[in-house]
Amino acid sequence: MEQNIGFIGLGAMGYPMAKNIRTKMSRQSNLWVYDVQREVCERFAQEFKDSGPISIANSAKEVAQNALTIATIVPTGHHVRQVYLGELSGVTAAKGLPHDKERLYLECSTIDMATARDVGQKLEGMGMGRYVDCPVSGGVPAAHSGTLSMLVGASKPTPGEAERGVSKRLQDLLLWMGDAKKHFYCGDLGSGLAAKICNNYLSCTILLANAEAMATGVKLGLDPKILYQVIANSTGQNFMCDHVCPVPGVVPHAPSSNGYKLGFKAQMLSKDVGLGIEAANSVNIKPSIGEAAIAVFDQVGKDERCIDHDASVVYRFLGGPE
Ligand code: NAD
Repeated sequence: MEQNIGFIGLGAMGYPMAKNIRTKMSRQSNLWVYDVQREVCERFAQEFKDSGPISIANSAKEVAQNALTIATIVPTGHHVRQVYLGELSGVTAAKGLPHDKERLYLECSTIDMATARDVGQKLEGMGMGRYVDCPVSGGVPAAHSGTLSMLVGASKPTPGEAERGVSKRLQDLLLWMGDAKKHFYCGDLGSGLAAKICNNYLSCTILLANAEAMATGVKLGLDPKILYQVIANSTGQNFMCDHVCPVPGVVPHAPSSNGYKLGFKAQMLSKDVGLGIEAANSVNIKPSIGEAAIAVFDQVGKDERCIDHDASVVYRFLGGPE
């Protein structure tokens, strides 16, 4: 049981992250998976059955009963509470095992810091192990290639610590899912989320600025490929335009050139910018750009043309020519 690993939330990000864990962990140990959509667990168990043993759990509680190391990635803080604190079927319902204190939880969702701190402190207060917030960055492609940035809400273990116990298990998970050059130890519980929220405040608002600028330029008659070349070689150059250019057919690997598929769902824009606005307000910084952006994102998240498409579909919402 000590070597077994649990993974909860096999969505767009979790599925490939769990794949990397299963293919890199010991073939002798079991990977316990759980998602409220059982069919996703069945597909996962079938697809990776040759990599080592996989068991499908019926609840987060069952995962905690069978694994000492557990990674989770679900949509919102509400879902994180369900997974960890759900009265009958959450992780805490598994309390009472001899190894409770040894458990390690790596919580990778993008949620608010207060929820992470509350859940983490409750688990530790109950003697149920160590909870580390570890939001990730790089999107679905980096989740597949195991090159995510890992924003760890903990301080860096010393070289001695990193080789044993909970710290060793933490290191292993980070290495299996993330790029070793992109493991960022941000401080205390909640600090990984603070960093993630600030980063996503930027990436989401820049995505909107790109869509507005490109839609304007194309409607003014510019060839979108030329406009992109100008931006890519001028002061407007940015990662989002280079990799998530919103105009179809300009950057071949961008979601827009592939039917706006995969990537970061349009409905998540309001959540992430909302987290940034809340965080800024909590420290008396006025989030004026975020407030303007969320007014657009709230509509994008309800628009049939945008739901379940990559967030760069906001270009289509604005009426950008395709
Ligand atoms: P998703 O909706 O594709 O997947 C979430 C999964 O969690 C689903 O399979 C769902 O069935 C499952 N789930 C929900 N509640 C559950 C519960 N109580 N117990 C077990 N499973 C449950 O979402 P995603 O795109 O994978 O994003 C997950 C998190 O990662 C979000 O917080 C998101 O902001 C963050 N994130 C996403 C990206 C991205 O590019 N998609 C990048 C970085 C971070």
